[in-house]
Amino acid sequence: MRKTISIGSDLRIGGGSFVVMAGPCAVESREQLCATADAVAESGAGLLRGGAYKPRTAPGSFQGLGAEGLDLLTEASRRTGLDVVTEVLDPRDVERVAQHAAVLQVGSRNMQNFPLLREVGRLRLPVLLKRGASATITELLHAADYILAEGNESIILCERGLRSFDSSTRYLLDLAAVPVLQQRTPLPVVVDPSHGTGHAAFVAPMAQAAMAAGADGVLVEVHANPDEALCDGQQALTPPRFAKLMSQLEQMAPLFGQRLSAPGRAQGAPALPKGPHASTTR
Ligand code: PEP
Ligand code: MN
Repeated sequence: MRKTISIGSDLRIGGGSFVVMAGPCAVESREQLCATADAVAESGAGLLRGGAYKPRTAPGSFQGLGAEGLDLLTEASRRTGLDVVTEVLDPRDVERVAQHAAVLQVGSRNMQNFPLLREVGRLRLPVLLKRGASATITELLHAADYILAEGNESIILCERGLRSFDSSTRYLLDLAAVPVLQQRTPLPVVVDPSHGTGHAAFVAPMAQAAMAAGADGVLVEVHANPDEALCDGQQALTPPRFAKLMSQLEQMAPLFGQRLSAPGRAQGAPALPKGPHASTTR
């Protein structure tokens, strides 16, 4: 029996409820976040993503706006009605981030940060746990066990691609992880085709493949102006491209026993195309 997790006040993921989590890689400014958040809400996204604390490989890279970014996420959430999923990097920030998030993201680099896993396990807020780029499925499940052991059972697992020998894509997206995980755990499983491929052109095909593989949702990077993004612009969808992906997923969903879950959309009702692009980009 698949587990269904409640997110915020009126969203569910798992057991036939498919959630599209969309937004920028990083919160960069009020203008950037609002423009992107408005666009993804308009297209029918279920959750707003965006990092206020960014795990960057090089210390000189943009590290996110921190607490200011959290305030902007809350503002965008009120404006659009979308709840927020955002990353927490440091166990000392968990309570602060939790005040601004409906789902706490533990990133791939922190999949085995055991103090952080224990800290998010003490809360009763859903956790999006991303697979490490070099972690086995068994290691991902053990990481989830750290959260479960503290009493938090609301865990969403995320496949986001593995380190490989081939640089044609940024990572090697392991879509087989979806059915493998689902055989081994009732927890919802989502796929991140943005980090998984690293190129905007490959995001929609892999998001559709994720739904076909049985995933319970996708995490997609969208930017109002990808050319000016401070982080991961090459893999960000523009709003029109995202709108097109949403209408494709809406069309596919009934074939795979899924309904797109989004605020205000009655659970169980057939998904209706939304937004100005939905009817023109099929
Ligand atoms: C992200 O989703 O913003 C992110 C940094 O992803 P990952 O931890 O998978 O690299
Ligand atoms: Mn990113």
